Amino acid sequence: MVTKLGHNKVGNKPRREDLRPGECLCDYCVAKCCRYFALPLDTPKRRKDFDTLRWFLLHKHTAIFVEEKAWYLLVNSECRELQPDRRCGIYETRPQICRDYSTVDCEYEDDWTYDLYFETPEQIEEYAESRFPARGKNIRSPRPGLPLLKARPK
Ligand code: SF4
Ligand code: SF4
Repeated sequence: MVTKLGHNKVGNKPRREDLRPGECLCDYCVAKCCRYFALPLDTPKRRKDFDTLRWFLLHKHTAIFVEEKAWYLLVNSECRELQPDRRCGIYETRPQICRDYSTVDCEYEDDWTYDLYFETPEQIEEYAESRFPARGKNIRSPRPGLPLLKARPK
């Protein structure tokens, strides 16, 4: 998000440390940082907290990730000012959050791996179930070869 000039070299992506003097990392990037935003979430502590997380994930283009015990909502939505050539369409008047972002520690080479990552409501539901199993519910299958015991009529 630093210069957004001349994004025409993406297919030939150098390592950060191999950049030559005068070159900008953004010239080789697909503008990763302009295609999403992430917001911190309260850490879920109770079973019902996960229901809110499930609601987030019922929306398209969302994900939830956990990094160093901090929970985040990820919204995959590119900025409407991102141009087809991956330049910023409002560079001179871009928001402060874009001005503050620097190539020094940006996600140029990040591989998007997290401690935990949830993409679907089912995934967060399953995780919540593992943390807070429903009381009395036996999640184990019957042992192979053993017939299911049925209640006898009285
Ligand atoms: S992720 Fe880094 S290199 Fe890519 S556009 Fe953003 S600031 Fe530039
Ligand atoms: S305003 Fe410009 S720099 Fe900021 S996210 Fe949008 S395209 Fe990127």
